[in-house]
Amino acid sequence: MTEPETYTGDAYCVKCKEKRDFTGTVKVSDSGRRMAQGICSVCGTKLNRILGKAQ
Ligand SMILES: [Zn+2]
Repeated sequence: MTEPETYTGDAYCVKCKEKRDFTGTVKVSDSGRRMAQGICSVCGTKLNRILGKAQ
């Protein structure tokens, strides 16, 4: 097992309709896209940020 990669940045919260700073984990989808997943600190909605293709 490798250490989960973390990401700190911002993502748009669809519920708050605002950008939120978050720290989340980086996931790689089946299609090879890297995505950061976190939680909105205000409303608790899941945040997703597309990071691009895996190296
Ligand atoms: Zn929110």
